[in-house]
Amino acid sequence: LNLEEFRRQGHIMIDFIADYYQDIEKYPVLSNVEPGYLRKCLPDSAPHCPEQIETILQDVQKHIIPGITHWQSPNHFAYLPAGISTAGFLGEMLISGFNIVGFSWVASPAATELESIVMDWLGQMLKLPSSFLFSGNGGGVIQATTCEAILCTIVAARDQMLSKIGREKIGKLVVYASDQTHSSLEKATKIAGIHPENFRSIKTTESTSFALSPEALKMAISKDIEDGLIPLFLCATIGTTGINAVDPLGPLCNIAKEHGIWVHVDAAQAGSACICPEFRHFLNGIECVDSFSLNAHKWLFTNLDCCCLWLINPSALTKSLTTSPEYLSNKASESKKVVDYKDWQISLSRRFRAIKLWLVLRSYGVANLRNFQRSHVTMAKSFEALVRGDKRFEVVVPRNFAMVCFRMVPSAFGAGVELDSANKLNQKLMELVNASGKVYMTHSMIGEIFVIRCAIGVTLTEEKHAIRAWKVVQETANTILQM
Ligand code: PLP
Repeated sequence: LNLEEFRRQGHIMIDFIADYYQDIEKYPVLSNVEPGYLRKCLPDSAPHCPEQIETILQDVQKHIIPGITHWQSPNHFAYLPAGISTAGFLGEMLISGFNIVGFSWVASPAATELESIVMDWLGQMLKLPSSFLFSGNGGGVIQATTCEAILCTIVAARDQMLSKIGREKIGKLVVYASDQTHSSLEKATKIAGIHPENFRSIKTTESTSFALSPEALKMAISKDIEDGLIPLFLCATIGTTGINAVDPLGPLCNIAKEHGIWVHVDAAQAGSACICPEFRHFLNGIECVDSFSLNAHKWLFTNLDCCCLWLINPSALTKSLTTSPEYLSNKASESKKVVDYKDWQISLSRRFRAIKLWLVLRSYGVANLRNFQRSHVTMAKSFEALVRGDKRFEVVVPRNFAMVCFRMVPSAFGAGVELDSANKLNQKLMELVNASGKVYMTHSMIGEIFVIRCAIGVTLTEEKHAIRAWKVVQETANTILQM
């Protein structure tokens, strides 16, 4: 590490990234390269001799950027936002700059202690019950993704249950969620060794705005108990991926708790908005759940990756995940007075993510973070009003946060157009919108209905981008109707 070169190249890199952002709207949002394009551009093997950063960045510009789908473009409304900020960038630089591996307290005391502190700070911002905070004998950990967080909690719930009923009963354990739940739950269930037939994806309907119905949960549990199975785990979601539906935590917990079920709340994207008093009610009932997670890297302006997981009983987690090899033994761990985060996650090595979240919380303050989120919600309301103002379109489900799910109504395509054809035409509409390169949106299925999702939350998006996105949709609809 040559420090003078580091300074020189670092400045070049910052300029390169700043220029990228300056030009970001010039690129098609959705990359239009063909599969395998990059192999044709790059040499077959690594260079034998060193190359200059300037040369490498020329290739980034020429070959890599065309293959990037620009998630940070203000015209990216697809999937879910991957929020960034200056503080998030700088935090990432500090993480890489220190490049410590704080698996246990002794391996970097500041990393562990800062993580415990920021998890308590964020927990307080969300008005989580004190039982989730270190100060209330609970605690939080920063992992990379929700998928990992859910896997760890299922494993903790599984082991807690099997220690009571016997390990041989693993085949009887059942996991519950709605059919809107993110696929990470199904994956985690498989990895945790739960029998695939014991994964209950409970159908949701329009009558509950596609939230999990407590009655449906109750019926599913009763049937399983009758069949000699053992209810284990319920995953409720605040803001489902497809349509931002919100499961009712209180009523679901009332049922789950009668049967000793571990309740996890996945609030990956929308959970961050619950730092705003007007959205906090979506977390009502959180006092009854066992664990709760959200991705600060989605809607809390913290560059990837930063999944925050809180538990009221972290010892259930550490019982499952602790290993104590001799080469890691140390007096601090033996004293049991410190947190060793290696026992709260799958891997041993871990990044110093807490410093990034700390920078974000300090650089903006709660007031500004709330206002950034509110501005996205205001843009979503404007987009929604535009959809409602065009009779050819409809908003298909109520908007809870900053995502609008819409489609062209079948009658707009002509008299007697059936659902199936309307779905195909809406898909075509979305594909043409995306092929324009001006905007990128993705879809979801609500029952049998194909809907286009406009997910607002990119840091650079402003009202004018949301309005222009709607114009692109309208113009493309005009083209389709003339075909
Ligand atoms: N849960 C929900 C509700 C999500 O929206 C997503 C991502 O889109 C996930 C889980 C997956 O998150 P991760 O990629 O962090 O595992």
